Amino acid sequence: MTSRTVDAQLGAEVYFKCENFQRMGAFKFRGAFNALSCLDAEARARGVIAFSSGNHAQAVALSARLLGMASTIVMPEDAPLTKMEATRAYGAHIVTYNRYREDREEIARRLATERGLCVIPPYDHPDVIAGQGTAAMELIKEVGSLDRLYVCLGGGGLLAGSALAAKALAPRCKVYGVEPQAGNDGQQSFRTGSIVRIKVPDTIADGAQTLSLGRYPFEIIRRDVTDVLTVSDPALIAGMRFFAERMKMIVEPTGCLAFAAVRAAGQQLAGQRVGVIVSGGNVDLERFAALISKPAGQAR
Ligand SMILES: *Cc1c(COP(=O)(O)O)cnc(C)c1O
Repeated sequence: MTSRTVDAQLGAEVYFKCENFQRMGAFKFRGAFNALSCLDAEARARGVIAFSSGNHAQAVALSARLLGMASTIVMPEDAPLTKMEATRAYGAHIVTYNRYREDREEIARRLATERGLCVIPPYDHPDVIAGQGTAAMELIKEVGSLDRLYVCLGGGGLLAGSALAAKALAPRCKVYGVEPQAGNDGQQSFRTGSIVRIKVPDTIADGAQTLSLGRYPFEIIRRDVTDVLTVSDPALIAGMRFFAERMKMIVEPTGCLAFAAVRAAGQQLAGQRVGVIVSGGNVDLERFAALISKPAGQAR
């Protein structure tokens, strides 16, 4: 997608890769489908397990169904009902846990050992990273070389995959990761050269509430990414409003990270060809309405 308004405001050519229109509503389908497709016949027959309350759960459940595999998803018992229903509708077996008393990774690993299931992590896995990179690959193949590419950043699977795709197809393209201001562990890690861990960040960007970068993504990001930037929650809301009003798209808060950084860069981008990954569109309409109706500064 493109927007004449955005191009005119920035004096740039901006190309949006809209993963809010992806199957199950986010780019996570790419990584999950690739990782499951790479399993051998024996592992496929046993099935897979993932722990997530968000888009990764639905991505693994849908990919497993399409590939004829069984999937188990470990979710907090207080996860939004709509998310649980959507995951169950894709045919997944759901195991719930109490997020204040139990450790989901431990539960997933125990079930994996007991039942011989393969654990599919949301970002810290080479096949997941390779799958996520196909969004940037498609964008560059479609619109041609870019000067800059902006990508949202949680655990780093999408950014690492995008950086690899850009390096191969547009080697002079600068790649930027974008995080919520309240959770800038990726920026700290990038700038200090070792993985920094933080407490659960207080931000509306729930897809980027990760505590630290994954090890595989970090190695790629530190080598192939130009910089990691941050944006505020009010800037995410301004992005959601713009997407809805001007481009007629529903984008979840996390999906607005990259665009918010592009808007903040303003005239710095004049004359450049800029790619923006819009990562997903899964947000309850009630929450969407509540967020966009609050005055700037009252993000929550
Ligand atoms: C998972 C997710 C992200 C963050 O991706 P990582 O690979 O963890 O960095 C960003 N946006 C959306 C919509 C997501 O679901």
